[in-house]
Amino acid sequence: MLDVAIIGAGPAGLSAGLYASRMGLKTKIFEKLNPGGQITLSSEIENYPGVCDVKSGLELMECWPKQAQKFGCEIEINIVSKIYKEDNFKIVLNDRVEEAKNVIIATGASPKRAGFEGEEEFIGRGVSTCAVCDGFFYRNQEVAVIGGGDTALEEAIYLSGIAKKVYLIHRRDKFRAAPATIKRVLSNDKIKILYNSKVKKVYGEQFVEGIIVNQDNKEIDLKVPGVFVFVGNIKNTDILKDDKEFICKMCEDGSVCVDLNMQTSLKGLYAVGDIRANSPKQVVCAASDGAIAALAIVKEINKG
Ligand code: FAD
Ligand code: NAP
Repeated sequence: MLDVAIIGAGPAGLSAGLYASRMGLKTKIFEKLNPGGQITLSSEIENYPGVCDVKSGLELMECWPKQAQKFGCEIEINIVSKIYKEDNFKIVLNDRVEEAKNVIIATGASPKRAGFEGEEEFIGRGVSTCAVCDGFFYRNQEVAVIGGGDTALEEAIYLSGIAKKVYLIHRRDKFRAAPATIKRVLSNDKIKILYNSKVKKVYGEQFVEGIIVNQDNKEIDLKVPGVFVFVGNIKNTDILKDDKEFICKMCEDGSVCVDLNMQTSLKGLYAVGDIRANSPKQVVCAASDGAIAALAIVKEINKG
């Protein structure tokens, strides 16, 4: 029986694994792909404190699994399809069911794709889903933002402070963002709005060189090196569903509600990183969440 089962080996899960195992708990992380999480898709990360030389996400994450394993944390490549609680937690894997006293869910979120040609291929090479992370690379250049919700509009405003010009491409003629945000976008000279427009494809050799946009019946060729896709995201919460019901309280935006210890409404079940409510969606915050949850579990276990 595990003291802690952690689902997902992104920054949140690996940090939780490091802290829990170092505190002497029998800990295992289950990861469906390679350890590292979403950030391994990023070509550069320069806002992780203490790491001053710019590294790719892959390079940043390289030693995280080893650091957790050093203290006895096991990492198994396996997909978790479901979790439920009887006396203890049951973790349903591909080939068997594991048992644990506590579970930390660190399955993250996946940005929704807009669905244009080349989108997947150029992720991390000009197509991005994180303006705070990648906006800086387009200082004084032109970029495109796709979407018409709060995230797209807020990020377009953020990017307008860095880039020379921001094309905001929305498929309809009405935004769904908050009125105050729309007003700020409309009065921003650096944002050019393309309504009723859909990106058809992104093109380039190694990196993005431009996009083809369909507007009404014409095609527009925008020579932009950066394309930011903010068309919503999907939190990876499926494993928390027992038939149609979630096993813990969910927040309105589809994230998992947690308290300050990252504990969900179900005792012993924790949610950390991008999946939890109000997540700032940054590596440093995900790592912090993992540590908070692991330490809270240690405290609970020590209470007896
Ligand atoms: P994730 O990183 O999403 O990790 C979740 C893990 O769970 C994944 O490895 C996934 O495979 C696994 N998993 C999911 N479901 C299952 C399952 N059923 N069974 C087993 N395993 C499962 N943040 C920054 O701070 N700085 C940056 O510069 C930056 N740049 C970014 C660039 C890009 C292109 C992207 C996409 C994100 C960027 N971010 C950046 C955001 C950052 O990557 C996330 O905030 C962070 O990775 C969240 O960590 P997490 O551990 O919560 O989730
Ligand atoms: P969202 O509200 O779901 O908006 C997604 C946007 O992307 C919509 O405008 C949608 O167009 C567009 N879109 C969806 N699929 C597309 C596709 N395939 N191709 C092109 N466009 C596509 O997502 P979000 O902006 O990330 O916001 C998520 C939630 O968080 C919302 O509830 C939002 O209010 C909230 N949020 C709040 C704040 C804040 O309060 N400050 C900030 C950020 C987010 P349509 O409009 O045509 O559907």
